[in-house]
Amino acid sequence: MSLVAPTFEFASYESLSNAELTERVRRIKAEMGSRLLILGHHYQQDSVIELADLRGDSYQLAELASRHEQCEAIAFCGVHFMAETADILANRPERLAQRGGKRVTVTLPDLAAGCTLADMAGIDQVEDCWSQLGEVIDVNDVMPITYVNSTADLKAFCGRRGGIVCTSANARAVLDWSFAQRRRVLFFPDQHLARNTAKAMGIPLEQMPLWNPREKQLGGNSPEALRQSRVILWQGLCSVHQAFQPEHIAQMRAKYPGIKIIVHPECSMETVDAADLSGSTGRIIRVVEESVPGTRWAIGTEPNLVERLKRQHPEQEIFYLGAKVRMCGTMMMIDLPHLCWTLENLAAGTPVNVIEVDSETARGALDALQRMLQVK
Ligand code: SF4
Repeated sequence: MSLVAPTFEFASYESLSNAELTERVRRIKAEMGSRLLILGHHYQQDSVIELADLRGDSYQLAELASRHEQCEAIAFCGVHFMAETADILANRPERLAQRGGKRVTVTLPDLAAGCTLADMAGIDQVEDCWSQLGEVIDVNDVMPITYVNSTADLKAFCGRRGGIVCTSANARAVLDWSFAQRRRVLFFPDQHLARNTAKAMGIPLEQMPLWNPREKQLGGNSPEALRQSRVILWQGLCSVHQAFQPEHIAQMRAKYPGIKIIVHPECSMETVDAADLSGSTGRIIRVVEESVPGTRWAIGTEPNLVERLKRQHPEQEIFYLGAKVRMCGTMMMIDLPHLCWTLENLAAGTPVNVIEVDSETARGALDALQRMLQVK
């Protein structure tokens, strides 16, 4: 990680206009060419996503970071765990060997851009859970699965135990893969994605105990409940998606008869059950793109994406599902001043906000990520 002082201080960027910042970002892109890759998550604001070389959801971006061979630096316009994943994949041992040991520099324009869902499971809590589970069930028969929205040390925890990472795009395939090998799974940190996916597979709710990491004994469960379990859920959630409620769906249906509702599987089970469809960010985009003109949609996911879909598809009528618009505050931290500041320092050879996962954690996390990329 670079300890060199930045050439440019952030404060001088805050007063610049968007037009000037955009022009300066474009200049750096032209200067660095294929050596620089700007990756943008679909939840980013327009002014930023328009400057991304590639955009996608967590799964697509992980794949892109694993495949791209030319670049020397990645500016990740997303949140912290995504930049960690990009670092692990872009700097995996065989890629480092191909580049003679030279690392791809991965930067996150604002280090404060975390994910409140990822923060709901800490490595100490998960290790404690695993050891308590070992007192009542055979953990050799439990597959640890971490949602990609998690820190690298949780991915490493899974990787070292034969476990795997999943995204909202492949959660079903990952659960199928897991059950082909082990009787149960421990899924963290998002309870809703796990519950919604397992329920759709026919697993009864009684076999999905909820582990509350704040409870001292067995996460608040009886030994019997854990012995009966197939999917042990972690008590974590995304505050952005949790906000969509079944009553919002009922209100939309009352106001616009025939409207179709699609929500992200990080929404609660009640909301997913009340919707017509649920799917990852990538799936939501595809479903809208493939709909016939005149289709009416209410979409339950991050508002930056919903607003963009509205503009891109004037042939359809698209509404944001919730009563009150709820942005992802951490995604919003990546703005033009931070992006421009990061890129200009990168081009000057004094990178700032470099994300570099330590090699031991990266090794374990890579095992879990590679298993995910192989599951179809
Ligand atoms: Fe995390 Fe939710 Fe924001 Fe996604 S929308 S980055 S899960 S807080």
